[in-house]
Amino acid sequence: MIKGMRGLSFKEDLIFEKSREGAKGYSLPKLDVPKADPAKTIDKKFLREGKIGLPEVSEVDVIRHFTKISLWNYAVDYGLYPLGSCTMKYNPKINEITSSLPGFADAHPYQPYSISQGALELMYNLEKALMEITGFSRVSLHPAAGAHGELVGMMLIRRYLEDQGNPRKKVLIPDSAHGTNPASAAICGYEAVELKSNSEGMLSLSDLEAALDKDVAALMLTNPNTLGVFEKNIKKICEMVHKVGGQVYMDGANMNALMGIMKPGKSGVDVLHLNLHKTFSTPHGGGGPGSGPVAVAKHLAPYIPKPVIEKNDKGEFYLDYNPEKSIGRVRSFNSNFAILVRAYTYILSCGSDGLKESTEHAVANANYIRKKLSKYYDLPYETSTLHEIIFSDKIQEKFGVTTKDIAKRLLDLGYHPPTIYFPLIVHGALMIEPTESESKQELDGFIEAMIQIAQEAEKEPEKCTEAPHNTVVGRLDEVTAARTPILKWEPEKE
Ligand SMILES: *Cc1c(COP(=O)(O)O)cnc(C)c1O
Repeated sequence: MIKGMRGLSFKEDLIFEKSREGAKGYSLPKLDVPKADPAKTIDKKFLREGKIGLPEVSEVDVIRHFTKISLWNYAVDYGLYPLGSCTMKYNPKINEITSSLPGFADAHPYQPYSISQGALELMYNLEKALMEITGFSRVSLHPAAGAHGELVGMMLIRRYLEDQGNPRKKVLIPDSAHGTNPASAAICGYEAVELKSNSEGMLSLSDLEAALDKDVAALMLTNPNTLGVFEKNIKKICEMVHKVGGQVYMDGANMNALMGIMKPGKSGVDVLHLNLHKTFSTPHGGGGPGSGPVAVAKHLAPYIPKPVIEKNDKGEFYLDYNPEKSIGRVRSFNSNFAILVRAYTYILSCGSDGLKESTEHAVANANYIRKKLSKYYDLPYETSTLHEIIFSDKIQEKFGVTTKDIAKRLLDLGYHPPTIYFPLIVHGALMIEPTESESKQELDGFIEAMIQIAQEAEKEPEKCTEAPHNTVVGRLDEVTAARTPILKWEPEKE
């Protein structure tokens, strides 16, 4: 019953160029003044010599063109988007209503406090809500993405250690970490040292013990990690790192598995970043704008980026541009403000019970998929998982079908593929994160498609190895597409 892109066929719509000579998208009233001669009224050097070369199309041509190409794409508003680690949850439409209220949408960062109170109060309250959710003492809303939050978090650790007399040299990072972790540590001048995960997919305490010394500035730990496994030794891990004078940075991109249930600030973690565009339902718009607030324990609070939001005795909100120990500014103005409005809306519309329920649904949905598919796909780690599951292509590989083929075949069956080949420690990884947004029907459709692929891999592997069959374009030259993309329409040369 499953058809390509859920029954739609695009082949006949492949003609991109719609221009027809003489087609127009406007009609003007008859000229009722004498026609001017451009040659007499306009300087010759400004006169166009040839045709401008714009497409000649009617309004309906344009609308249909853009609507059709939008249908060649895939979006979270279209169907399940199970990219593991990315948390592609539904973006509630109420977020768009609140963020377009004129007082927010038209606010200017330099307008006087007297007419910015509402916007400042929202930021102040959002900081308080994130402090409550994470169990930390302060939150900086400045960072523009998760990776930016990591960088800011590591800068805070460095400045704190410098104040203690020695910034130290190394940052320990488990091999399951997101690639941005070692990059952030390196930009802060630290050597990234990799720690191997154990057979349960967790950080090994004995390996950690062996790596800890007086040169260790920090451990960067993702929890739950990118295998979806909760690092249950988190308290012990923090104690061990603190004992040698190091700090614990937690990558909180997976906070959607913990909200309302566990507060990292209460287990000894020193710094954490959040991804509002993952956990708090704000859009992952084409590379931005994102938001990666950083939450810190008390001893790091004096260092957070400026300006910081404060409330005076009269209950008025203002920005403090000169906190004494701040690491300084980390971006222009104060944050991606419209994203903060969306995240705050999500938090208020869920309430504390709703956030907890969202976590429970995210974990239940992932485990439903895990249970239904574990007969068909290899599970490299037996350890129980929270909000995401990692399968590998070990079973299908025997028939010559790899993770990439499985991902391409899913496109035929109408689903966006999961994250593939990450985390790197799993050969042929398929990292599936359904999020809490999906209904049982949607999950069942995806499971049915994955089972069909597992059966095809065994009986008719070419269906997978030659996929996709019914998308607009087949397998792309991904290197050329990434290195020399054609991003704009150009008129044909005459
Ligand atoms: C997404 C993600 C990041 C980076 O966040 P960006 O907002 O994409 O910069 C870091 N760590 C983990 C585990 C992630 O999933």
